[in-house]
Amino acid sequence: MSNIPYGKQWIDEDDISAVVECLRGDWITQGPAIEQYEQALCEKTGAKYAVAVSSGTAALHLAAIASGVMPGTSAITSPITFVASANCALYAGGTVRFADVDSDTGLMRVDEIEGILTEQARRGKPVKLIVPVDFAGQMCDLPAIKKLAEAQGAKVVEDAAHSFGATYNCGGQVFKSASCAHSDMAILSFHPVKHITTGEGGAVTTNDSKLAQTLRELRTHGIHRDPARLTRPAEGPWYYEQGALGFHYRITDMQCALGLSQLRKLDAFLSRRREIAARYDEAFSREPLSRVLKPLRKVEGLAHAYHLYVVQVSEPDLAQRSERRKELFRHLRDRGIFCQVHYIPLTWQPYYQNNLGTSELDCPGANEYYAGALSLPMYPKLSEAEQVTVIEAIAQWASNR
Ligand SMILES: *Cc1c(COP(=O)(O)O)cnc(C)c1O
Repeated sequence: MSNIPYGKQWIDEDDISAVVECLRGDWITQGPAIEQYEQALCEKTGAKYAVAVSSGTAALHLAAIASGVMPGTSAITSPITFVASANCALYAGGTVRFADVDSDTGLMRVDEIEGILTEQARRGKPVKLIVPVDFAGQMCDLPAIKKLAEAQGAKVVEDAAHSFGATYNCGGQVFKSASCAHSDMAILSFHPVKHITTGEGGAVTTNDSKLAQTLRELRTHGIHRDPARLTRPAEGPWYYEQGALGFHYRITDMQCALGLSQLRKLDAFLSRRREIAARYDEAFSREPLSRVLKPLRKVEGLAHAYHLYVVQVSEPDLAQRSERRKELFRHLRDRGIFCQVHYIPLTWQPYYQNNLGTSELDCPGANEYYAGALSLPMYPKLSEAEQVTVIEAIAQWASNR
């Protein structure tokens, strides 16, 4: 059997045809597929506006600027995420604080956010941005976070890179991930390991027309043609002005053609992910696996999107837990099963230690989470036979201990 990665894309002939058709047409960069894709993203998420960009990281960067992050301000995010969730605020000149997570979910804690908001206000470095990370495919308490943010004049940008298609409950109502019902903006990533792919790619969603306009202009150099804001009368149809310092973060028509084709399969992909999760859940509820490993805790009232299926090695001592995890990682790798660890706490990264003064001691919840965590193969194309191979290999490791 060939190697089994922790995640990968699923591209069919119809996806390939969609891209080829685009290549044969008049537009390969800035054409009609971009707006169609943005419209389709609005329909899927329930948000009013979607601005598609070149990556999830670009989406975070633009959202941080649009949130008002600048030198002298700060942002809060999770220590258990990809570095981009924190870097976005640094790109915009702000600083970052990390709010610790629950060790059994990897999700940022509301009381930790509250503590940091108060501290930053006292220090005169007001928080302009909170980036809750929907780790593995579950959401933090967005309604509570939004309430705290509003009281402090901060914006909430949901990092929904893991949760496309997930839902949560609030007051008896069901809300979708990236709908921005309890956030100002949300970001998605279309990297091949995420729920759907455009190669590289990302998007910001929002319900605020002004934010959408700002994001569109920042995506393309800060240039606009809005007659109401031109500083001199347009000299002709060619006339435009650069009002802000923007970037070239555009996505292409070819990528959006692929995205449109992929988006039609999102629901089918999600069902596959949930089926795979259910089989893992079943395996980890029985001996010998239940003795040595436990899946992350499921948050009540959520429909999980399972970007990742994370298990944690059960072992009271952190150092030993980490040893056992390494053993299991190697055991699986030697059998062609390539797991991953998501994520090394950001507080450990030398860049943040040297520039923000973080330390390995900062977030005990994140350390506790990290010590035993392992992301198992989880992607729609993973066959039942492959999953059985994975489970049997883990069981072999478990019974040898
Ligand atoms: C993938 C990811 C990103 C960044 O997306 P790119 O498209 O790779 O730039 C940001 N945040 C999280 C949590 C991610 O998993």
